[in-house]
Amino acid sequence: MAGTPAGVGAQAGGGAAFLPTRRSLASLAWAAADCRGCDLWAHATQTVFGEGGARARLMLVGEQPGDAEDRAGHPFVGPAGRILDRALAQAGIDRGRVYTTNAVKHFRWEGRGKRRLHKRPSAAQVSACRPWLDAEIDVVGPSAIACLGVTAAAAVLGRPVTLSRERGTPVAGPGLRPTVVTIHPSAVLRTRDDAARHAQLDGLVHDLGTAWEAARTSS
Ligand code: SF4
Repeated sequence: MAGTPAGVGAQAGGGAAFLPTRRSLASLAWAAADCRGCDLWAHATQTVFGEGGARARLMLVGEQPGDAEDRAGHPFVGPAGRILDRALAQAGIDRGRVYTTNAVKHFRWEGRGKRRLHKRPSAAQVSACRPWLDAEIDVVGPSAIACLGVTAAAAVLGRPVTLSRERGTPVAGPGLRPTVVTIHPSAVLRTRDDAARHAQLDGLVHDLGTAWEAARTSS
């Protein structure tokens, strides 16, 4: 993966060229499985499309699938997903009532020995994948969105985002939906110090609660 020239094996115009005419979550997921809108498909196991209730009030958007998600084909099922499950439970949110997805649907990684290490998707890859996220937002029609991490936030809001300045307070997102920026659950995993890790988790729980409340009270 590392060193692959951007655009190799990719369709000009990104994922838009692969969108189905008739849109439902099932038809989108089916079509996304064959997306060649950027070069990431060539090095991943499979497309990891969003999952959750077709009419979920809250949509959670992460950056991209991780190693476990790439193998399983489902979003947020690896270690970060377990942190997310814990945070949602602590916030009193049933994961079955939210829709989870990623800004980019294929795993970008670089090899380190036998391991595949996460590599942040480029702005061009995020942009290429944006039509899929837009289509998910259109079909699900969430009342609010929570962006997990700065890459997701920039993808959803369409502008650079500074996490320390913008997290936790709803801003107007796609379709003027209240949109809350918070950390990615993997940030909790990366924090070594126990007290700091607990504080990170508490902050995530708080921000998810804010997003849920915005979804609950927004029409
Ligand atoms: S990352 Fe997105 S745009 Fe690129 S190939 Fe995968 S689904 Fe298509």
